[in-house]
Amino acid sequence: MAQEDVFKKIVSHCKEYGFVFPSSEIYDGLGAVYDYGQYGVELKNNIKKYWWDSMTLLHENVVGIDSAIFMHPAIWKASGHVDAFNDPLIDNKDSKKRYRADVLIEDYLARIDEKTAKEVAKAAKRFGDAFDETQFRNTNPRVLEYQQERDEAHARFAKALNDSNLEELRQIIVDAEIVCPISGSRNWTEVRQFNLMFSTDMGSTSEGAMKVYLRPETAQGIFVNFLNVQKTGRMKIPFGIAQIGKAFRNEIVARQFIFRMREFEQMEMQFFIRPGEEMEWFDRWKETRMRWHKSMGLGDGKYRFHDHDKLAHYANAATDIEFEMPFGFKEVEGVHSRTDFDLSQHEKYSGRKIQYFDPELNKSYTPYVIETSIGVDRVFLSIISGSYCEETLDNGESRVVLKLPPALAPVKLAVLPLVKKDGLPEKAGEIIDRLRFDFRCQYDEKDSIGKRYRRQDAIGTPYCITVDHDTLEDNCVTIRFRDTMKQERVCIDKLNEIIAGKVNMKNLLKKITG
Ligand code: ATP
Repeated sequence: MAQEDVFKKIVSHCKEYGFVFPSSEIYDGLGAVYDYGQYGVELKNNIKKYWWDSMTLLHENVVGIDSAIFMHPAIWKASGHVDAFNDPLIDNKDSKKRYRADVLIEDYLARIDEKTAKEVAKAAKRFGDAFDETQFRNTNPRVLEYQQERDEAHARFAKALNDSNLEELRQIIVDAEIVCPISGSRNWTEVRQFNLMFSTDMGSTSEGAMKVYLRPETAQGIFVNFLNVQKTGRMKIPFGIAQIGKAFRNEIVARQFIFRMREFEQMEMQFFIRPGEEMEWFDRWKETRMRWHKSMGLGDGKYRFHDHDKLAHYANAATDIEFEMPFGFKEVEGVHSRTDFDLSQHEKYSGRKIQYFDPELNKSYTPYVIETSIGVDRVFLSIISGSYCEETLDNGESRVVLKLPPALAPVKLAVLPLVKKDGLPEKAGEIIDRLRFDFRCQYDEKDSIGKRYRRQDAIGTPYCITVDHDTLEDNCVTIRFRDTMKQERVCIDKLNEIIAGKVNMKNLLKKITG
């Protein structure tokens, strides 16, 4: 099935099964804003808990905060967002559609990569075991041609971004003959900068209201609380501050479902360190964060690092952790070495001394920062895309199953009485009463057992427990495992242990620590 179709199916599955709804749907929706439904919110909460625990339980020197969305507007001047939080946009004059110039070019580079990958795959098939990929890439004329085209475009692109050269960005689009996907034409406007921050008015005084911004990232709430946390928590460098919260960006091109939203949620951690130690900590956090992703079991090959072509003026290293979404490898998390830029800027703009006295070195300095910044919604999408399976069963029927990591599944077990009578519903109720303190359980008595299994598969429930007439005699039930569909007869007293063994978040956390 084409990846585009898979993506469409995932989007409609999310809606049909109560994971994600378009916002304000009865009013025809609101662009790039989404609501999480009854199962979506559970999965999202589990993702957040997994991240929070991985930060604050596994590192004694990482603590959390929860800062306000509204902040003093001077913060956004200090951080550079008022002047420089821009995306380069370009319009197609025929379709009147607006695009991010950098994204058009990135998509073009990705298409060249795809063409190369196709050549390699074809040759691998043709040559079988004897295939030497490196040699093929170094000698095949067509692949070399693609590579040269890519390298040249990429070098120009990186330079244009670094120089903020908007004319050159446009020229790359023209030279590469990139067409508008809607109109198919190359009738482009100039490239312009567009600030992504939403603003609103706060209060009302005789002098008028104050213009405030909806935060475009949670990180600044951490920086401006650096002294509060360091002092009240008696934190010693190195230490980190973690936060989960909403962020808002007026994205120019909002598409790809919850991948690019105008209101989204971030999980950010700023790790404060001695100047000069940033490369060592940068590498450590890169690896730690990659382990966090891979521990979910969606497939190690679906992740890769992508180093930035353009470093923000304050950063001295930056990488993205990308996941293979149905629409290609895309950024899910950024790991950035931000130097002392933010704290210094806030020192300058606030007039407060923001430094740390290091008792071991017996001197004060402005700490450096390694940041890990991840979008909850993009992790959500990576988990759903990586778990979505359509299977044909031995009996010819098909099923859609979300093979979610059990610890993150919205519902951990469903208890299903075989029939709606003979005391079976009451027995099922007793089982739920025993297990509900530890696991989110669901009761379902409607339709055939097969249909009920399918419904649980579709929301990713790892266990179904069936109560039958024998249960009343032998106190045993049938437990059915989501991924293998195997069934086992087990004693009710054992259920807690069996389920806890798989769905406990400890399992994931232990994989990170190795
Ligand atoms: P992109 O290049 O895709 O716009 P970014 O580099 O601007 O992303 P960062 O500013 O590094 O993103 O933000 C950190 C994380 O926040 C991203 O890795 C992503 O997971 C998440 N994020 C950023 N923008 C959005 C958005 N519009 N919708 C959903 N998540 C987002």
